[in-house]
Amino acid sequence: PDPMEKSSSAPNSDSKSMDLETLAAENQRLQQENLLQKRTLDQLYAITNEFYSTNPQFTQRVPIVRAGEDPLIATIRCIVKSMEGKLKRLEELNGKVMEASKAKDQFLATMSHEIRTPMNGIIGMINLMLDTKLDQEQSDFIQTIKGSSEALLCILNDILDYSKLSSQQISLEDRVFDPETLMRDVLNTFAAVAQAKGVGLEYSIAENLPEVVVADDTRLRQVLSNLVGNALKFTENGTVHVNAQMVERTPASYFLRFKISDSGIGIPAEKQERIFEPFSQSDASISRKFGGTGLGLAICKAISEKMEGRISVESAEGEGSTFRVWVRTKAPLPRQLKQFKKRSTPGQNSPFTPFDGERKGPVLLVEDNVVNQKVAKMSLQKLGYNVEVANDG
Ligand code: ADP
Repeated sequence: PDPMEKSSSAPNSDSKSMDLETLAAENQRLQQENLLQKRTLDQLYAITNEFYSTNPQFTQRVPIVRAGEDPLIATIRCIVKSMEGKLKRLEELNGKVMEASKAKDQFLATMSHEIRTPMNGIIGMINLMLDTKLDQEQSDFIQTIKGSSEALLCILNDILDYSKLSSQQISLEDRVFDPETLMRDVLNTFAAVAQAKGVGLEYSIAENLPEVVVADDTRLRQVLSNLVGNALKFTENGTVHVNAQMVERTPASYFLRFKISDSGIGIPAEKQERIFEPFSQSDASISRKFGGTGLGLAICKAISEKMEGRISVESAEGEGSTFRVWVRTKAPLPRQLKQFKKRSTPGQNSPFTPFDGERKGPVLLVEDNVVNQKVAKMSLQKLGYNVEVANDG
């Protein structure tokens, strides 16, 4: 062969053989890549299938494949888009639900407040009427009206409290008080009820219970009153016992636990979780027999949680119930401690002392509701005051 040809063909044949080698290598590389991609594809398809079968809310759709796009990428794009759309819709709905819930709470709070004003007029007038000359029959009727209106007011107060608590409209106040005195006060208000039922009512305090704490005593009193009231309501024989102790302290706070035990009808195990939910009573027959709104414990729970604590129940049917409630109070500052001691010196305890003297002199009554003006004016006049009325400040 022509050396020239050879020489000229040499590079050719060389490049040809090199091309083949390159091609072989390329071929192998591509095969490997393909294998890898196929494995990845299989995995991704498996994941996709798994996703669709465990998330039935995302209906499987045939994805629209864009030019040059891998069908798998298209599938994933489709899922992501569908998820984004649903998330956005969920967010919208969530916002609407929150708004509606807020509006509902606001409505309830406003309504209960508006209803309480005329209720005050009704109850006030009933009390004034009971002081007038009535025959036996009239007096019986009025007493019944009085009982019913007071029951209605109780329900209204519960609804108002609950709606305020659930719409976060209640802020706690700081007041300096002695927890033992608070317990005694609460028990005192139930002494007559307990006596009438022949049920014992007693309390004990642990030695470590602080003498002075700082917290919202009104809200704590409300919780204890609810729990003691329930204990008496559901107990026919035996004793209701209240105990208080401190379970933990830090330099700035005391964690207190109150325990209210009764020997009453108890609560079946399966109902115990539910009783802390609003409008829940352990049994429909209970509401018929004992009355109540089923809001008391929900209010106790909300208040205890607001006071950084909680509430729990332990009960056996027919054997009685024990409610425990934890609340965090602040430790008094030295200044508060000093002030508190000064206030509680003997003889200065009763805020009513100044009113026990002769009742005379002028009183300015400021009230915009005409009926309540009348009630307050007449009640004050009955007490001996000289009343002048103004519609507003
Ligand atoms: P109510 O206004 O109905 O008393 P609560 O929220 O205070 O509402 O109580 C919810 C329900 O829990 C009651 O109706 C009653 O079934 C049950 N319960 C609460 N306290 C006691 C108790 N000490 N003993 C037995 N049952 C109780």
